[in-house]
Amino acid sequence: MKTDIQPEYVQATVTCNCGNTFTVGSTKPEIHVEICSKCHPFYTGQQKAAIARGRIDRFNKKYGM
Ligand SMILES: [Zn+2]
Repeated sequence: MKTDIQPEYVQATVTCNCGNTFTVGSTKPEIHVEICSKCHPFYTGQQKAAIARGRIDRFNKKYGM
């Protein structure tokens, strides 16, 4: 019988761009992510704010303000 060698899992420290860190089981000891579950609602909130600002800019151009 063939035995598959499983990669050894460690507690990886995940560092997010928002400064949040948490640990997950992974084969890598350190992981860097741009977004995590903690900052994701905040991120989408920023995106919506940017879209809203774009609409105001278009409105101002249209009416010459
Ligand atoms: Zn984050």
